[in-house]
Amino acid sequence: MSDAALDLGFDPDALREKYRQERDKRIRQDGNEQYQEVKGEFAHYVEDPYVEEEIVREPLFDEVEIAIIGGGFGGLLAGARLREAGIKDIRMIEKGADFGGTWYWNRYPGAACDIESYVYLPLLEELDFMPERKFTQGPEILEHCRRIARHYDLYDNACLQTEVTEMHWDEASGMWIIHTNHGDRMKARFVAMSNGPLNRPKLPGIPGIETYKGHSFHTSRWDYDYTGGSSKGNLTGLKDKVVGVIGTGATAVQCVPHLGEAAKQLYVFQRTPSSIDVRNDQPTDVEWYKSQQPGWHKHRMENFNTLVSGGFAEEDLVNDGWTEIVRNILLLMRIEKNKNLTPEELAAKAELADFQKMEQVRARAEAIVKDPNVAESLKPYYRQFCKRPCFHDDYLETFNRPNVTLVDTQGKGVERVTETSVIANGQEYPVDCLVFATGFEVGTDYVRRSGYELYGRDGVTLTDKWKDGAETFQGFHSRGFPNCFFMGTLQSAFTANFPHALNEQAIHIAHLMKKAQDGNIRRMEATQEAEDAWVDLICKLARMGERFYAECTPGYYNNEGQNELRNPKNTSYGGKSERFFKILEDWREEGDMKGLEIS
Ligand code: NDP
Repeated sequence: MSDAALDLGFDPDALREKYRQERDKRIRQDGNEQYQEVKGEFAHYVEDPYVEEEIVREPLFDEVEIAIIGGGFGGLLAGARLREAGIKDIRMIEKGADFGGTWYWNRYPGAACDIESYVYLPLLEELDFMPERKFTQGPEILEHCRRIARHYDLYDNACLQTEVTEMHWDEASGMWIIHTNHGDRMKARFVAMSNGPLNRPKLPGIPGIETYKGHSFHTSRWDYDYTGGSSKGNLTGLKDKVVGVIGTGATAVQCVPHLGEAAKQLYVFQRTPSSIDVRNDQPTDVEWYKSQQPGWHKHRMENFNTLVSGGFAEEDLVNDGWTEIVRNILLLMRIEKNKNLTPEELAAKAELADFQKMEQVRARAEAIVKDPNVAESLKPYYRQFCKRPCFHDDYLETFNRPNVTLVDTQGKGVERVTETSVIANGQEYPVDCLVFATGFEVGTDYVRRSGYELYGRDGVTLTDKWKDGAETFQGFHSRGFPNCFFMGTLQSAFTANFPHALNEQAIHIAHLMKKAQDGNIRRMEATQEAEDAWVDLICKLARMGERFYAECTPGYYNNEGQNELRNPKNTSYGGKSERFFKILEDWREEGDMKGLEIS
């Protein structure tokens, strides 16, 4: 080790090499194609286990001013901001039996959010709501979704348990005709679509999974009838069961402690370990919360967003594991009294701070997990933001239980599933129940993930228009699809705090609709010129982050290790999210709706 390495306590060159080896072990030719789409014989994995009573109703052929597809935070925020702007004629359309989106579906034991509740939960000031803890749990979030829907009267006229099957633009009436699984052909002058970025569960394409005869389900459709218990745990139905869980991402990290506590035997099949940092949760300090001044929520969200996007802020209000790296870099720079670093010097400092952080995470695994081999298997060797960082205080400890076995597949994944067992590393593990904690589709086509086709002007489908990559203006509008607003991350902002970005989009949509209402605008469509310019910008910015992701271990952040194959058009806005929000704000302030054809 060099002197510098001795000073640091680790050797950056050796770590860089180790990261490369670990990544290379996991690179596979089939990239996104390795996963099994949940359809046909696998369709039961996406059925709704939470619905209490199926809605039976006559098909609707009525008209509304705006239909919002998706009742998660995106749709709810759009509804809320539209109501605030005085838009009355709104219809929410949601597949689930209630609002909640991600939080409606993901009710697995231990479900909680790693982003601080005071910045994650939207509309806290508007609803005068105080989260119970620094990190909010699934049931509180789901209830907050319902609270928003009630507060803004979004249950009125809503179509729950309703899945859009296709949408057609009718030029004659200047309206969208929305087809659903209830036989509806409802009309809407405007449509906002917030389908969610992680809404379609995926299964691993492991040979033989279709032959498995034991009980199985995906974590986003948790089968409490089988396991017993609730999202708080206490899964009494598993006390005589051998359970296998495939996947060790953010979801598994939260449910594995409960499975370990309840099952007779638990096998955790790991391909890549997650980074598990301290959670440091605590109850909300009521005095502190009540002492916040008006505007505090926006200010806190912006402060967090600036820091997690690698920006500079004088203070770190949230002060958690997400902002720590940036905090450390700022500290390093303050110590060295050198604030004018070149981008390369800054990148070198960031890499060093990252190594330090991950060394800490690896040391934590070693300190908690008693068996040194298991501890070694649980150490992540990649940069912190190559995968979703996790924060949990019981996950690592679970591997000290005598009934819990980590099956480390050394980056290869499970080999095969038979009628009764999981085969990994050439060994057979018979299981009564198999839980797929294998995440959601990310890199597949937009229409496949949203589950419905759009037929725009002249009958052109969105699939066709986007066959060579997405084309939008500001991520909202796509030429040929008038009066249709896209919400989400595509060609739009990406931030760790997703509801923040959705709120900015909702504010923008409310502005557009207010303009439409006040100016009697019945049709708006992106100009070709504006769309081309936006797509150009997206492509240019996409190239900036390429090197970082190319060096990362495979995952959905880097197109499963095939970042070079990712169409730059299908990415998010690659600049800082705060810059994207400013672009929208400036555009609204200019007030002339530049880039849109209006009639
Ligand atoms: P992920 O996509 O993050 O994880 C999927 C897991 O399945 C990975 O560990 C993956 O391994 C593994 N896997 C896939 N195929 C195989 C295979 N053939 N054999 C073995 N393992 C396999 O999904 P999650 O549901 O965990 O999380 C999705 C996202 O949801 C998170 O990234 C986060 O954004 C969000 N989330 C946030 C939470 C929070 O706030 N705490 C909690 C839960 C989710 P590999 O890594 O090798 O690909």
